[in-house]
Amino acid sequence: MKLTLVRGDITEQRADAIVNAANSSLLGGGGVDGAIHRKGGPEILEACRKLRASHYGKGLPTGQAVATTAGRLPARWVIHTVGPVHSTSEDRSELLASCYRESLRVADSLEAASVAFPAISTGIYGWPMDDAARIAFEAVRTAETNVRDVRFVLFDGAAYDVFEARL
Ligand code: ADP
Repeated sequence: MKLTLVRGDITEQRADAIVNAANSSLLGGGGVDGAIHRKGGPEILEACRKLRASHYGKGLPTGQAVATTAGRLPARWVIHTVGPVHSTSEDRSELLASCYRESLRVADSLEAASVAFPAISTGIYGWPMDDAARIAFEAVRTAETNVRDVRFVLFDGAAYDVFEARL
């Protein structure tokens, strides 16, 4: 597996799948979720609504992942995963690792060879960037997957530097 760091906007990635740091409602939100729906167009939200109605009436549980069309984005699919909110009283690392593993499992089911991840949970959900990078690399490196090209797309220079130092 080839691991690459990219500084930029995940909505511009030409990958088989890009991963969305969604919230459990699957109905959109801020941050990377907002950007994906805005640029991908209404087809993605429509697919999310259908998934909610058919499978996730109570929402997509934290640590799980599910795929939809990527609408107008240059990727083929969006894999939506729900990161844990960071907590200082409870260790939720396993749930964050699960987001990466489950996203790769869904990617395998789509026969996706390339997947781009954002830094899940490091925005509104408050996870410290360095710890998030550690968990992300560990989860991806130990995953049993056929995905050959894994990219981490970091939105700003500070996040990129932290991921690079960890790598
Ligand atoms: P969460 O709720 O999981 O914390 P956020 O979307 O708030 O999700 O943030 C996750 C990370 O994604 C943050 O580091 C944020 O800076 C980054 N981010 C926001 N927009 C984009 C984008 N268009 N491409 C890549 N990363 C993004």
